[in-house]
Amino acid sequence: MNQFSFKVQSTIEGALGRTGEIVTPHGVIQTPAFIPVGTKATVKSVLPESMKELGAQALLANAYHLYLQPGPDIVDEAGGLGSFMNWHGPTFTDSGGFQVLSLGVGFKKVIAMDETTFRSDEVIADKKERLAHVDDDGVTFKSHLDGSMHRFTPEISLQIQHQLGADIMFAFDECTTLHNTRGYQQKSLERTRLWAKRCLIEHGRLTQERVGKPYQALFGVLQGAQYEDLRRKAARDLAGLDEDGITFDGFGLGGALDKAKLGEIVNWLCEELPVNKPRHLLGIGEPDDLFVGVENGADTFDCVAPSRQARTSAVFTDDGRVNLTNAKYQRAFSPISESCDCYTCTHYTMAYLNHLFKAKEMLASTLATIHNERFIVNLVDRMRASINNGDFYALKADFMGRFYAKRNLAQ
Ligand SMILES: [Zn+2]
Repeated sequence: MNQFSFKVQSTIEGALGRTGEIVTPHGVIQTPAFIPVGTKATVKSVLPESMKELGAQALLANAYHLYLQPGPDIVDEAGGLGSFMNWHGPTFTDSGGFQVLSLGVGFKKVIAMDETTFRSDEVIADKKERLAHVDDDGVTFKSHLDGSMHRFTPEISLQIQHQLGADIMFAFDECTTLHNTRGYQQKSLERTRLWAKRCLIEHGRLTQERVGKPYQALFGVLQGAQYEDLRRKAARDLAGLDEDGITFDGFGLGGALDKAKLGEIVNWLCEELPVNKPRHLLGIGEPDDLFVGVENGADTFDCVAPSRQARTSAVFTDDGRVNLTNAKYQRAFSPISESCDCYTCTHYTMAYLNHLFKAKEMLASTLATIHNERFIVNLVDRMRASINNGDFYALKADFMGRFYAKRNLAQ
């Protein structure tokens, strides 16, 4: 029985953005929603209870990392990802495609093409060995842990993801970079289409074989880089796939994204996709990108940035990002944000966090991560409320004007 569904609730007038509700066997996700990342089945330094308390509706873990350690069979025996990590809400896993293909190449997810600092070696870093080789059947790669050789194919990725047992999984795709030629993007897109078909077939087989397990939804991943015709084709192709009645339950908007074109790309894809299936924008979590994604029709988002930045003492405030180790916070006996309702802001001061980071105390990461995750989860929750109230653009103007005030002044 299919225990997965999605329905649209309200829309932004004149745009593709919408609110909705995803139902999974482990609970409901009100969309748009930000899904925090627990790469190795843990959001680094934070208890799952704290993630729930700060408003996370679901968590996303990484198939590549869990395949290498502890191994998907162990997660399966534990009763699946949620039981293993003591998270009782919905879970996502990505396919491992992005990780294996970006191994060793210093690959950036969002590239600001117009920045003067942009160099091609940011895509394939100089003197770095590429640790993955792609062919039409799959990807051979070297483990970043011990250098051992491994192989992922669409079938293997689905077998791993079924063992991990997340409510929402992603099809195995080839993630290209913006520096690949158009010819290569075209060839790669066809490869990803053929892999998507194989994913559906294997997904159908595994769903039957693992009878009695909670239903796992499969999202097809759309590539096509910065090319409108390729993006639109990817969306039409994958939305149209039907393997003996098995179709994608939703779609992942993937690939390398040129920041300046993010809105256009999401728009092209969402214009082609069926309205009644959810869309997840992969690896996006900067506030301005989230507004653009929501406005153009993406329903869910994930990104490691809020927690990764928190561990380096960079935290969000309504007036932009600040660094807690700055000397000016030594005697700041006030919360990071007066308007934030998170556990950190309601119990601790910036002065205390400044001290913890300087003393290299572990609690620094925990408290900063709780704040950053709450900030981004709450920002997307506010977008949802604003769509329901018909004032999305007012929220956007208000938030962007204040958060990016310095950047706006510089322009
Ligand atoms: Zn806070």
